[in-house]
Amino acid sequence: MQFQSILRVHFLWIPLLATTYKLLAFSSMTFDTPLSTIATIKQPTLAKLERMDLSTVRDLLYHFPFRYEDYSAIHTIDSLVPEEKCTIVGTITKIEAGRTWKKKLFLTEVTLADDTGQIRLIWFNQRFIAQSLEIGITIRVSGKVTRDQKGLVMQSPAFERSSRDATHTGRLVPIYPETAGLTSKFFRWQLSGIFTKLTEFPDPIPEDILKQLHLPSLKQALFSIHFPKDIEHEQIARKRFAFDEMLCVQLKALQVKALFETARATPLPFDERVVKKFISTLPFTFTDAQRKASFEILKDMERPQPMNRLLNGDVGSGKTVVAALAAFVAAEHTCQVAILAPTEVLARQHFESLSRLFADTGHGVTLFTGSYRILDGKTTTRPTLLKAIAAGIPRIIVGTHALLQEDVAFEKLALIVVDEQHRFGVSQRARLQELSFNSTDGSRELVPHFLSMTATPIPRTLTLAFFGNLDLSILDELPKNRKPIITRIGSTARDREKIYELIRSEIAKGRQAFVIFPLVEESLALKDVKAAIAEHQHLTETVFPNLNIGLIHGRMKAKEKEVMMRDFKEKKYDILVATAVVEVGIDVPNATLILIEEAERFGLAQLHQFRGRVGRGEHQSYCFLFPHQHSASTESSGEQAGKKSGEYNERLKVLEKSTSGFEIAEADLALRGPGAFFGTRQSGMPDITMENLTNLKLITIARDEAKNILMADPLLIKHPLLKTGLQKFEERIHFE
Ligand code: ADP
Ligand code: MG
Repeated sequence: MQFQSILRVHFLWIPLLATTYKLLAFSSMTFDTPLSTIATIKQPTLAKLERMDLSTVRDLLYHFPFRYEDYSAIHTIDSLVPEEKCTIVGTITKIEAGRTWKKKLFLTEVTLADDTGQIRLIWFNQRFIAQSLEIGITIRVSGKVTRDQKGLVMQSPAFERSSRDATHTGRLVPIYPETAGLTSKFFRWQLSGIFTKLTEFPDPIPEDILKQLHLPSLKQALFSIHFPKDIEHEQIARKRFAFDEMLCVQLKALQVKALFETARATPLPFDERVVKKFISTLPFTFTDAQRKASFEILKDMERPQPMNRLLNGDVGSGKTVVAALAAFVAAEHTCQVAILAPTEVLARQHFESLSRLFADTGHGVTLFTGSYRILDGKTTTRPTLLKAIAAGIPRIIVGTHALLQEDVAFEKLALIVVDEQHRFGVSQRARLQELSFNSTDGSRELVPHFLSMTATPIPRTLTLAFFGNLDLSILDELPKNRKPIITRIGSTARDREKIYELIRSEIAKGRQAFVIFPLVEESLALKDVKAAIAEHQHLTETVFPNLNIGLIHGRMKAKEKEVMMRDFKEKKYDILVATAVVEVGIDVPNATLILIEEAERFGLAQLHQFRGRVGRGEHQSYCFLFPHQHSASTESSGEQAGKKSGEYNERLKVLEKSTSGFEIAEADLALRGPGAFFGTRQSGMPDITMENLTNLKLITIARDEAKNILMADPLLIKHPLLKTGLQKFEERIHFE
């Protein structure tokens, strides 16, 4: 009874509140004021804004310019240069308006004069312009100058009376993403209105943090991003928003981490005898780094909470065997393990190397990809394999995203290992997360332990930013038996001859070589595939007529690639010409030489990956990098070519000097920025955050601050602004 009446009272309040809210909206503006209540915005503009997902004042304030035109300097008319953008101030001496001689366009032509000369301004089909101008008034005009038969002219420039404050001209003018027919001018006009009416700018970031980082308040930052006094103000505003985003990233990461803490997993106690049993089957001893990482992983797996760890290791550092040990421990506990690779070739290779590693352990390895299904060493059908997996029969299952399909059910999945997780698509990663919350009935009963592996040594700032929810194990040490790979940058045709000579002598000694041709986007670049095919032909016919040369490229079917890789491994070919498909993980210990053409097209981290294809056995290995001008097809005189390559060489030299993937990654990040490092599309990060990913201080402070905030207030009850901010952030960003 009582409860109902309370309810009724509550309901009574709702219309009342709504009315008050509307009144408030009219009298004063807030972030939440709907754009539909702003008098100067009418249909059909509202509908256009709606289509851009802009419905409140907040949305408009966070609709940032993507660049600025610098119209801050005022030019005199005699100093104007055609094709340049500029701002001039002058008096109108003539206005002509009417249809053009072809009667198609309505033309407004204005003559503007200052002390140094005159210029024509023209607009097409904008009748209102003639009405808003008169002879004798002084206006400020910004735009691009061109020259036609009659002299200097500006077409459709922005203008305003010079007595007004500069909004559209004479300053750093913001340019907005203009979709749905809304112009930058519209946004500038509305936003300047909003800034005069808005009184409250509720700031989610506490003042002391802003002070500590020398960042502006929300109000100041919003103003500076739309109407920057100068470029410094604009940049500091961007930094402030990057911090906001990074704080959200960190809050989210820590929340996910906390969520994993509350989940339950199958504890897999680690028994020294079991570990020794596995290690004793290996033909080598673990490096210290491998030992430490294995210990961290096995310790995690002992706990009744799911492990959530990233194994970040340099190429050739031996991640596979570390993952294999974890898989072995789980399998010995009669549990299932799923090992996922981003491509069929890599899945196949993991399958083969794991089959070898497990040969003496009594555990079979199963393969499940789009094209291959192997159980107990025999090819089988999909339904048979699905049934077996659901019955818990195969324990160690290697596969691609095919393993993530809805109808794949495990009986007792206790560990998921994902190789190169960032190469999986967004929806696959989402499914992975679902799978890791192994909820057949939504009860989230037992969550598998989760081990992510990456062969891209990731700089510290990026691990914090992208993988903040994961614990980290690092393999920064190569097995002792490795000789450092000798790396050289080729710069002349003579260099190329010498390299070809070295390839011949290595092959005479029984070794093999890779020749890499760039393939930037695996499925798209037909041109690159053609280049690789042409190079293959050139090498076969002209350079190495006596050798067997294979070819592998991204346009080949998985089966064909597979066969080619296997044949190369089995030494049916001396040289393998390849596009970037051999980038990650391919293991051919007998290959000792790699020649990378058009090396400047790749990032350093990627080149380091390629280089890691050699030096995997006991023989001395070599890596040669050739920038574009010197590739075989475009032979040029040595001297000229040598000069041109100077600019690339600076960057490539990092590889000559360093063999540490972590060092190279840091250099790559500094040189090319995080967008190039990971690929913006893959990261799912907003641009503004990407720009700041090299800023370790900003990231660590965001991390620490997120920790402090959540420690005191895990549900963000006392931080309502942050909570809404985080929700808005999640709507925009897909988080791993
Ligand atoms: P990556 O970390 O690049 O995936 P892999 O796991 O493929 O490296 O290992 C590279 C090669 O090194 C493999 O042939 C593997 O058998 C070998 N290997 C791994 N660990 C050691 C070690 N401790 N000592 C010697 N060789 C090792
Ligand atoms: Mg590997």
